[in-house]
Amino acid sequence: MTESFSTLRVNANRMHDSFIHLALIGATGDGGVSRVTFSEAHLAARNWLRTEIENSGLEFHMDGAGNHSALLACNNKNAPTILLGSHLDSVPNGGRFDGALGVVAALEVLRTVKENRIKLGVKLEAIDFTDEEGTLVGLLGSAALAGRLHPEALKNPRGGREDLIAGMNRAGLSEAGIFKAARSKGSLAGYLELHIEQGKRLERAGFNIGVVTAIVGIRSYRLSFIGRADHAGSTLMEDRLDAGLGASAFTLAAREIVMRDFPNCVVNIGKMDFAPGVFNIVPLRVDVSLEFRSPDADQFAELDGALIECAKLEAERFRLDLRIEFLGGHAPSAMSENMQQAFMNSCDTLGLTHMSLVSGAIHDAQSLNGICPIGMIFVPSVDGASHAPRELTKWEDCVNGANILLQIALTLGSG
Ligand SMILES: [Zn+2]
Repeated sequence: MTESFSTLRVNANRMHDSFIHLALIGATGDGGVSRVTFSEAHLAARNWLRTEIENSGLEFHMDGAGNHSALLACNNKNAPTILLGSHLDSVPNGGRFDGALGVVAALEVLRTVKENRIKLGVKLEAIDFTDEEGTLVGLLGSAALAGRLHPEALKNPRGGREDLIAGMNRAGLSEAGIFKAARSKGSLAGYLELHIEQGKRLERAGFNIGVVTAIVGIRSYRLSFIGRADHAGSTLMEDRLDAGLGASAFTLAAREIVMRDFPNCVVNIGKMDFAPGVFNIVPLRVDVSLEFRSPDADQFAELDGALIECAKLEAERFRLDLRIEFLGGHAPSAMSENMQQAFMNSCDTLGLTHMSLVSGAIHDAQSLNGICPIGMIFVPSVDGASHAPRELTKWEDCVNGANILLQIALTLGSG
């Protein structure tokens, strides 16, 4: 049976038509799209998706979290579902491919299976998750579907409570409804996502497909170095308790620690707020926004310890107080070994080259980690560009990714 599947391909022209139509919705005029969650353009894209689903003769479904789905049933009513998907929301002035490719490819897989009348032992679902990018909450739809959304995430969202409520009203969603989107245990046989790499590794190495081994964990802290405000002219250098020195020394040391001891990790200090923040007063206090990422749970804990220890040492060196506020994060998510192997087998079947890599970006797949087996593949990003209008993946690579998604759905669905 698998033999006959290996020659099946998605309809690349039909997928291209869908992709081009979608890219017109919220188009920025310079090749990008702006479809931030629950904006007019985002809701228009979702309406477009609904029409595409219905015109394909697939069943449309929207859950309480606003996730939009195409459903393809099978003969067994109680069979579990293989979920394929990504997201239609974008960052402001983002690219056409981020998320959109995964949704369009997932829909194309369902169309292909349906028109070839292939009987699988599982249901197929192509899903567009709500608010992946985090304009409002981040991974909102996938966390709700996984039953992992914390009530606090809606009470104190990073995009502001007012904007969240206004957006939910525009989309016709309620808080109670969002929590009802949780799927029952055992209803999902797997989650598979095709995404652009958003980096340069595949392009540099010259490979067709990236098989994701893990999605990094991410943690953030606010570190406050506290010294003493003094006259910037009359206070001797050796007498100063300059909070800026601790914050700056920590920034440089953090980079060195990661580059020397944690080669798979990254650290970013994206913001420093100086108080009182004027030319002629020695800085009393500097609030440092620290974020770091690691693909491995043990290494993540070690890195966390090393960075906090470093902040303490630098504070001590400059005779400063240090306040540490943990702001939250996500654990690293390992992809299913079976899914990785199945992806590699599909690449071999289709004659595509592949390499294994870690995702440094957050994706919906990690919400489903532990709920069902998860797998993810990347296709090359030209020049690694993403979250910008110049984001580009060659169409041939997009089609390759969709065909891998089709192969693995067929393999898992018939196995
Ligand atoms: Zn994305």
